[in-house]
Amino acid sequence: MRAELLLSPRCPHAEAAEEVVRRAFSDAGFQRQPLERVYVDDLDHAAGLGLHGSPTLRIDGRDVAPHDGLPISLDCRMYAQPDGTQAGVIPAETIFEHLRAREQEAAELKAARARPGLGELLARLSRALFLWASRRDSLERLSMALPFTRALVRRFVAAEDLEGALEVLRRLEATGLRWTVDILGESVTSNEMAEAAADRYIATLDALAGAGLEANVSLKLSQMGLGIDHDFCQRNMRRVVRRAAELGAFVRIDMEDHTVTDITLGIAREMHADYHDVGVVIQSYLRRSEADVEQLIREQIRVRLCKGAYDEPVEVAFQSRAEVDESFARLMERLMRDGRYPAIATHDHRLIEHAIEFAQQHGIDPTRYEFQMLYGVRRDVQERLVAQGYTVRVYVPYGTEWYPYYMRRLAERPANVLFVLRSLLPARRG
Ligand SMILES: Cc1cc2nc3c(=O)[nH]c(=O)nc-3n(C[C@H](O)[C@H](O)[C@H](O)COP(=O)(O)OP(=O)(O)OC[C@H]3O[C@@H](n4cnc5c(N)ncnc54)[C@H](O)[C@@H]3O)c2cc1C
Repeated sequence: MRAELLLSPRCPHAEAAEEVVRRAFSDAGFQRQPLERVYVDDLDHAAGLGLHGSPTLRIDGRDVAPHDGLPISLDCRMYAQPDGTQAGVIPAETIFEHLRAREQEAAELKAARARPGLGELLARLSRALFLWASRRDSLERLSMALPFTRALVRRFVAAEDLEGALEVLRRLEATGLRWTVDILGESVTSNEMAEAAADRYIATLDALAGAGLEANVSLKLSQMGLGIDHDFCQRNMRRVVRRAAELGAFVRIDMEDHTVTDITLGIAREMHADYHDVGVVIQSYLRRSEADVEQLIREQIRVRLCKGAYDEPVEVAFQSRAEVDESFARLMERLMRDGRYPAIATHDHRLIEHAIEFAQQHGIDPTRYEFQMLYGVRRDVQERLVAQGYTVRVYVPYGTEWYPYYMRRLAERPANVLFVLRSLLPARRG
């Protein structure tokens, strides 16, 4: 890997910028990575190198922080920091994200070069393994007891408590991102747990409104007691939705596995009849989704479209990536044309590009839909879309019941495990 720090000779941020880069490399497991300083002394030289301000970090010819239309310049470049301030150093987080994206690209390229079908086969196997693990109580107890798992989980889980979550939301707000808050927990087994979960959602809605932050939450029916009793679950939901209505908040009902799709859509419809700002989720891997989308368009219920995160049998769900993506594109087009403010929930750059192009070709204004992504995933893409004027809502989970959520994130991208584990080991590469 070739890493260059491009600087104008008088850049006052050179030392600090280099220090952040070295620290970020080291934290990501690249302790011995050389960093070359490249001094750029006039505008012609800057134009030749494509320098859009000093300092600029470039890895293998690609700028770590895209310049997004800044002019060619030798002037100082300021970067938005995670705490909302501006400084002349590239944030360590941005560097970390870039390195992670490189890892993923390399892994994808490797998989694509493997024998046809083998990459996908392995991905499916590892996905099935993690989703199986997500349902094992014994593994949950074990991993929650391991000292280092918390550090790994922190990437995807904003905080353990509400206060911490609010802090994260303020940081997102400073970068122009929106959010929906998820309180971790699912498949509860007692009335007390379900009622407590509903209480926590009500308290979270109150806290968001009280703090002047957008009140938008996502919840799961299995957390509200669906596995205990349908009517009991509905009563808990009604309490949450009633408070949301009082506050003018939005409630999204997440979609769980296919055994509860009908029930979830049914409860979403009932809640929507009482209060307009209740939405639901459609998974493009389910074969039934086309019909569901048509019905939800007729009812003008807001839909979040995602690929789907559970292990589903072939009878009900497409199994190949190509089919799931094709279905996503089809459903997305239907929702963008006629749905009520759809949420395009994916990190898949081809589908994001497809959405943008489709909207442009059909005169659909960017205010008529939004993108949604998960906390901790493709922050670079989130910020780039915001900079381009799109609405991006981040799904922000908080709480201590992170195990199944975390396992689903690993199932989506097992390279995550390798990346984080590698950063814990002494480096062997430069
Ligand atoms: C806001 C939001 C809400 C969701 N709600 C639900 C729901 O209610 N029910 C449900 O079943 N599923 C839900 N999901 C999960 C969804 O179904 C997918 O499992 C998940 O989004 C991964 O698919 P993808 O569209 O990003 O595409 P993929 O093809 O899986 O990934 C595309 C690229 O995104 C990046 N990426 C994706 N996932 C990860 C990850 N975990 N870690 C690191 N990088 C990653 C990688 O760069 C990858 O190449 C939700 C997803 C989002 C974004």
